[in-house]
Amino acid sequence: MKRLTRLLVIIAAFLPFSGAMAQIKVFACEPEWAALTQLLGGEKVTVYSATHARQNPHHIQARPSLIARLRNADLAVCTGAELEVGWMPALQRRARNSKVLPGKPGYFEATDHVRLLEIPGQLDRADGDVHAEGNPHIHLDPRRIRQVAQALAQRLQVIDPENSSAYRSKWRAFDQRWRKAIRNWQRQAKPLRGKKAIVHHREWVYLLDWLSIQRAGSLEPNPSVPPTLGHLAKLRDMKKPDLIIVSPLNDPKPANWLRAHNSAPVVILPHTVGAVANSGDLFAFFDRLVERLLRIER
Ligand SMILES: [Zn+2]
Repeated sequence: MKRLTRLLVIIAAFLPFSGAMAQIKVFACEPEWAALTQLLGGEKVTVYSATHARQNPHHIQARPSLIARLRNADLAVCTGAELEVGWMPALQRRARNSKVLPGKPGYFEATDHVRLLEIPGQLDRADGDVHAEGNPHIHLDPRRIRQVAQALAQRLQVIDPENSSAYRSKWRAFDQRWRKAIRNWQRQAKPLRGKKAIVHHREWVYLLDWLSIQRAGSLEPNPSVPPTLGHLAKLRDMKKPDLIIVSPLNDPKPANWLRAHNSAPVVILPHTVGAVANSGDLFAFFDRLVERLLRIER
């Protein structure tokens, strides 16, 4: 009997928290949505990020560990607009979790809630265009992040109605802090207005749009098609841009080649939360973005 009691005590210690304490399990496709969901859900959610800052979200393997995570999720938060088209549908098929299928409240796509840029006139996948539904990299504009956050806060209330008031107050606190931060970043970045930037991958389009920086071209002839010498030569012959933007994931050679010819500065910007030191949450991420852009002014 004594042994049985001891056994029960041990089992109880390993049991998860009971009903009222249960957290909503969130599967975030990218680090930026993991960070946003954590801000909006706080202690009511446990968030798993399917990808990290050293991975290209266009190209992810549908690994068994990801399938297991999605199988147990209450909510999946992804970018959409075909960013995850190469892996998320495969995960959804194999996870057999009806809660997180397209059309269900448990599947949230950020791009459903903002206006997309660069929607192509006609599909041309033969050229390797991975932005066939429009440019999906909306997280590089904090105004669009705010729109996504508002929709995501509402979705959390649908998934977990018991905690609605907690999600509403977290949204209000986030919104107040975020709007103030946006005003600060915009004030700091004023000297960048009207500058001309060449980017490696066109993920930076939303950042440039927000800060009124002109798009002078991209090192990739088409999204995710590696730069060619012929294409780089065209960029070399253009008027000199004010900066060349790359992410830590990009091969630095094309940008360095161009710099060697036109002496425009190359700026390495974090493309997501955690991509460079001290960019571990959304506020710090935009702090680093603006700070690094302003270095060209010095
Ligand atoms: Zn892309």
